[in-house]
Amino acid sequence: MMQQLPRERLVVAIDCVAIMEQALASTVEYVKQRTAFDRELIRFQNTRMKLAEAATEATVARTFVDECIQRFDNGTLDDATASMAKWWASDRLGRVVDECVQLFGGYGYMTEYPIARAFADARVQRIFGGTNELMKELIARSL
Ligand SMILES: Cc1cc2nc3c(=O)[nH]c(=O)nc-3n(C[C@H](O)[C@H](O)[C@H](O)COP(=O)(O)OP(=O)(O)OC[C@H]3O[C@@H](n4cnc5c(N)ncnc54)[C@H](O)[C@@H]3O)c2cc1C
Repeated sequence: MMQQLPRERLVVAIDCVAIMEQALASTVEYVKQRTAFDRELIRFQNTRMKLAEAATEATVARTFVDECIQRFDNGTLDDATASMAKWWASDRLGRVVDECVQLFGGYGYMTEYPIARAFADARVQRIFGGTNELMKELIARSL
């Protein structure tokens, strides 16, 4: 089981990237149709900045996690790198989904909306599969 831990951590990281991308896509769709002060939310500069930041976070996370997948496939994914992927991706997921909830306004808090569920589910990613604090401890031991 201990030998498979990098794999479990990579799976968590992959989940996080997928949820981030889905949260971002559904938020972009929402802000294009929701209007406030006679204009779509996407036309407010703040909305655009927040989405640009979220898209950047998701892209950077995917790029790193994609590299980890390649390393897993060729047998070179070590414990420390898998731990980096797990804590980094779950940490970014928390930030991205939080911003997405904000852009949904009150609907973001309603469990009828998938973004609210994504927000609740995102929180556990920093806990299970080894807490993010433990991931950092493992990385530190490798330095
Ligand atoms: C929904 C869910 C599904 C789960 N599924 C599984 C599963 O399928 N298989 C499985 O084996 N487990 C599973 N778990 C358990 C999960 O892996 C543990 O909850 C997690 O590893 C944290 O352990 P703990 O709950 O004992 O917290 P604790 O170890 O008590 O940690 C509590 C806090 O103390 C901190 N802490 C602990 N030790 C240190 C340290 N040395 N340095 C700094 N901080 C520290 C932690 O980071 C955390 O913030 C699941 C948990 C949840 C919530």
